[in-house]
Amino acid sequence: MREPFPIRNLSRTRAVVLVGALVGTLYLIAHLWVTAGETPPSTAPAPAALRPTTDDPGAMLSAPEGLTARRPNASTPASPVSRPPAPPFRDVADALSPDRTIAAELGMHGVGPAAVNELVAALQGIFDFRRVRAGNRYSFTLRTADARLTKFRLETGPLDVYEATRGADEKLVGRKVDIPVRTEVAEIGAQLQVSLYQAMKRANESPTLVARLVDVFAWDLDFFKDPRPGDSFKVLVEKVWSGDKLIKYGRLLAAEYTSQKRGVFRVYYFAPDVKLKPGQEAPAGGYYLEDGQSAKKMFLKTPLKFARVSSKFDLHRKHPILKYTRAHLGIDFAAKTGTPVWSMAAGVIRKAAFERGFGNLVIVDHKNGLLSFYAHLSRFARGLKAGDKVDQKQLVGYVGSTGMSTGPHLHFGVKRNGGWINPEGLKMTRDAPVPAKFAGQFKKQVALWKAHLAKISVSAAPASEKDDDDVTDDPEDETPGPPQAANVPTSAPASQPPSAAP
Ligand SMILES: [Zn+2]
Repeated sequence: MREPFPIRNLSRTRAVVLVGALVGTLYLIAHLWVTAGETPPSTAPAPAALRPTTDDPGAMLSAPEGLTARRPNASTPASPVSRPPAPPFRDVADALSPDRTIAAELGMHGVGPAAVNELVAALQGIFDFRRVRAGNRYSFTLRTADARLTKFRLETGPLDVYEATRGADEKLVGRKVDIPVRTEVAEIGAQLQVSLYQAMKRANESPTLVARLVDVFAWDLDFFKDPRPGDSFKVLVEKVWSGDKLIKYGRLLAAEYTSQKRGVFRVYYFAPDVKLKPGQEAPAGGYYLEDGQSAKKMFLKTPLKFARVSSKFDLHRKHPILKYTRAHLGIDFAAKTGTPVWSMAAGVIRKAAFERGFGNLVIVDHKNGLLSFYAHLSRFARGLKAGDKVDQKQLVGYVGSTGMSTGPHLHFGVKRNGGWINPEGLKMTRDAPVPAKFAGQFKKQVALWKAHLAKISVSAAPASEKDDDDVTDDPEDETPGPPQAANVPTSAPASQPPSAAP
C-alpha cells in the first residue's frame, strides 16, 4: 500500500500519529467488514484495497505496537476489546507555510483532495482560497472514519474569519464568522520634541496614525519643512476593538496641528447624515476646514511623502560644478530609490516612458493647460501607460536616478501653456465645500468636535536621552507602505493592524 499523502515533510511525531490513526482506522474497517459477514473470518479476508498489511514499511516503522493491524486469522481471532480503537476525530491547528498552497498544506495533515474540494465548494462565494497568505492560521477537525472534515476555521485577518461546519445532514456549510467589534473614539494629543513620528510613538500610537494625520493636512502643511520642536497635534480617531485587542483605526474624525511656524490648523471629517432611499448610496464623506471649505486642494504640495527639497526652481542657478548659470526648471526632492511618487492632481497620463535626460519620465495632463513632470524614476507604477486616468495622489512611479542624474531624487516640474513655471507658485484651488443644505449639520458637528479637541492635553513627555528618529531623516522607519495608493499590487500582504495600544 502506498502512502496516501506525502510524508517527507512530517515530523517524526506527526508521522507516528498519522500513520497510527490511519492504520487503526483501516484495522477497524477491515474488522467490521469481516465480522459483519456471514462467513467465518478465516475464510473471508478483507478486500485487498482495505487490507492492512505488515509489509507497509511506514506501518512497520512507525505504528505503535498496539495499533499495528494484523491480518485476522483463525488461530488468533480479532478481538475488538483487546485493542484501543482509533480516535474518531483528529484536531489540527497550524499556520500556512510560505511555500505551500492550501491544498498542499491540508494534504500534509492528511486531508485528501476530495475533502479539500468539498471545503472549497462549501466556502464558494464566501472565501476565495487564492487569497490565503503565509502565516494565516487555520484549524480543523478531521473525522478519521471517512477522512472528511467536520469543522474548518481559517483566519486571514482579525476580522476575517471563515468557518465550515458539517451539520447533522452531513452537509459541509461555510460562512464568514461575525467577529463582534466595538468602535470607540479616542482622544490623542502630544507635543513634538523631535518629530511627529516620535511624538506619536510616545503617545503609544502606531505610525499608521502619523500617515493618516499627514494625509489630512497634506494640502495645508508641509511635513518635510514645517514641523518644529514645540509643535503639537490633537486627534479624534475611531479605534476598532475586538475584546481588548485593537484591530485598527477607524475614521479620523477631527485633527488639530499647532505649528510654531504656520499657526493652528484644524480639519473635520464630515459625511452628511441623510435618510437613504433603497438603492441610494450614502454621500461620500470628506475633510473640511471649520468654515466648510474643503481641506483638499487641486494640487498636492509635494508629489511624494518622505523627502527633502534638494534644489528649488531657479531661473539663475549656478551649476555646482560647471559654475555657469543654468536654470533649474523644477524642484528636486532627494529621496531614497523606490520612494513612491504620486500624481499631484487628477489628470490623464500623457507619457510614461524613457526620455533622454529625464530618464524614466511620467507626464500627467491636468486641467487648465497644466502638465506635471516626474523624472529620473527607477520604474513606473505597474501597468501605467499613456491615456490612463489618474487620481490625485495616485502612484505613478518610484524615485530613481535614471537619465542625467547624479543620485536618487525626483525632479518635479510643471508646465503651464507650454512654459515651465515654479510649482511652488501654483494657485491652490480648493475642492467643493460642504453643500449648502448640510451647512447646519456641519456646524453642529464641528462645534462638538472642536470642544472635544479643546479638552485634549498635549503635555510634553520628558525627552529621552536619545531621540534621533526624525521623520524627515529616516523615511523607512515610518513608511507604512504606499499610503492608500489606488494600485497597490494585489500580491501585497494584507495590511497589518496597528500594534495594540496599552
Ligand atoms: Zn532637477
